[in-house]
Parts: sequence; structure tokens; C-alpha cells
Amino acid sequence: MLAKWQKRLRLSDWDIRVHFDASLAVDLNCHGQANIWASRKAASIALDERMPATVVEDIVLHELLHVAFNTVQTVFDAHFDQWLAPGFRKLADDQLLTAEHALIENVRFALQGASLQCYEVDGAEWVSAFPLLEPWTK
Ligand SMILES: [Zn+2]
Repeated sequence: MLAKWQKRLRLSDWDIRVHFDASLAVDLNCHGQANIWASRKAASIALDERMPATVVEDIVLHELLHVAFNTVQTVFDAHFDQWLAPGFRKLADDQLLTAEHALIENVRFALQGASLQCYEVDGAEWVSAFPLLEPWTK
């Protein structure tokens, strides 16, 4: 499954590893996390170990899309500090991440042909970490 999505996203030349991480389970809003080393074309994807098997592919694809869109963050990191007034970097980072998640989830749903998914884990509702967001223009 990892190789399939790496190929579709043109990430086959990246060294991407996936592992389960118990520490992610403490935060219901964080089901997965990607650490990316773009200069080495390497990434490590950590998954909440409580994740039901049925959502693993959804979260892996979400994290792979973070890897695929990493070039935007690289450009942002390289140039925006010189343009932003002091103190605005965090605000800009937050807005970039929100926009990236909207894009990632829209692309993921398009690739998977899926709608917003909800899951049940230990009696608690498990909703896709970043629900399909409204388009920026209404
Ligand atoms: Zn994410």
C-alpha cells in the first residue's frame, strides 16, 4: 500500500518508512505525523497505534501528501522570515498548515473517491483528523 501511493504521488525515489507510535495516541487530533528530510528525500511516518486497520491507508496517504507538498513549506521557510514582521511567523505557519490540510484532504478524498469518514475507537468517535474543509471561495 505504501509503495502504491508513493508511485502515484511520484515519491518512489524517496526513502519513506512507516511505524506505529504509542505516544501519538494521547492526542485524538493527531493520528499520524510525518517527519521529512527533503534534502535526503527521506521521511518517517508515525501512526497512532490505536488506529483501526481500516483507517491506516487514509492516514498514510494524508501523511504522504504532506511529503508531496513539502516543497511549498521549503520555499516558505527559505523566504518568508525576511518578509514577515517579527512575531508573525507563527501566525503564517498556522495559516499555511491550515491551507495545506484543506488541500491535502481534498486531494486525498479525490484520490480515494471517498467522503468524510468517521470511525469508532474505544467508544469514542474517530473522525478524519482534518475533515473536508469548505472551499476558500463560497
Ligand atoms: Zn496533517
